[in-house]
Amino acid sequence: MIIEGKSIAGQIELEIKEELKQLGTPKLAAVIVGADEGTKSYMKSIQKVGEKIGIEVEIVNLSEESKTEDVREVLSGLNFKKDGIIIGRPFPPHIDEQKVIASISPEKDIDCLHPVNLGLLFLGTPRFKPCTPQAVIEILNHTRTTICGKKVTIVGRSNIVGKPLAIMLIQRGVDATLTVCHTKTLDLSARTRDADILIVAAGYPWLVGADMIKKGAVVIDVGINVKDGKLVGDVNFQEVEPKASLITPVPGGVGPVTTQVLMRNVLLAKKLSIYSK
Ligand code: NDP
Repeated sequence: MIIEGKSIAGQIELEIKEELKQLGTPKLAAVIVGADEGTKSYMKSIQKVGEKIGIEVEIVNLSEESKTEDVREVLSGLNFKKDGIIIGRPFPPHIDEQKVIASISPEKDIDCLHPVNLGLLFLGTPRFKPCTPQAVIEILNHTRTTICGKKVTIVGRSNIVGKPLAIMLIQRGVDATLTVCHTKTLDLSARTRDADILIVAAGYPWLVGADMIKKGAVVIDVGINVKDGKLVGDVNFQEVEPKASLITPVPGGVGPVTTQVLMRNVLLAKKLSIYSK
């Protein structure tokens, strides 16, 4: 069965709209350094979704020539003006990403990039849950997929997706038995075929074919790649879909849920700012 990310996203959107009625308009800043077209179009899509829900999204464009200190200064100012801040990644190579992240106030860091927020996540007491990993968990919960005790394999160990997702899946109460794979993993197919739930976040088009999954597995495809001018995932959907019990498509799977989790984090940031006063 195909998991419709849009329908799960729609449910989260309704919940957010309901809560916003009492809160007023939250303000999100989306900071872009340089002219990467992919980042710009991603931020515009966030702005559009925000407008629809009632969240104000200001896109702050900084020039490619901006230095790490310039970006930090802008972020320091935004910490006082906005409820939440996201930054477009990847940055131009001359920017020190970790220094930039450290200048976002942890209370405004709705993407959960700041070391303080990652530490809280590690301890199992998160302030913000990172958007894409939380979208994956949201999808598993909405489809009533049992995670407890199941063998879960993640392909990918980035700080944005694979690593935080691994932390979240092994927390008490979630209780997955976990394997995390990367480019140095030997015999990737053996690891993916062993999984009851397979989550792929490698950024490699059609990395996973039908011969790499167990029959009846739940397959969550986080990847977004362009292949022959089309958006495709890390999983060869056509091949894998008949063998999987549940599978997310690309586009229309994890992506729309991630956006709504992000919006919900802006709402949470607004609530934190109100109740901490
Ligand atoms: P990164 O490039 O930062 O990390 C990719 C990870 O996958 C690395 O750990 C890498 O291993 C591993 N990997 C890459 N190729 C292979 C391979 N052939 N075999 C095994 N492991 C491999 O990517 P991100 O985590 O930022 O993103 C992953 C994908 O998810 C991308 O397509 C991105 O566009 C998409 N994405 C989607 C989102 C959504 O909301 N749907 C949000 C964020 C990202 P190693 O560490 O050894 O290099």
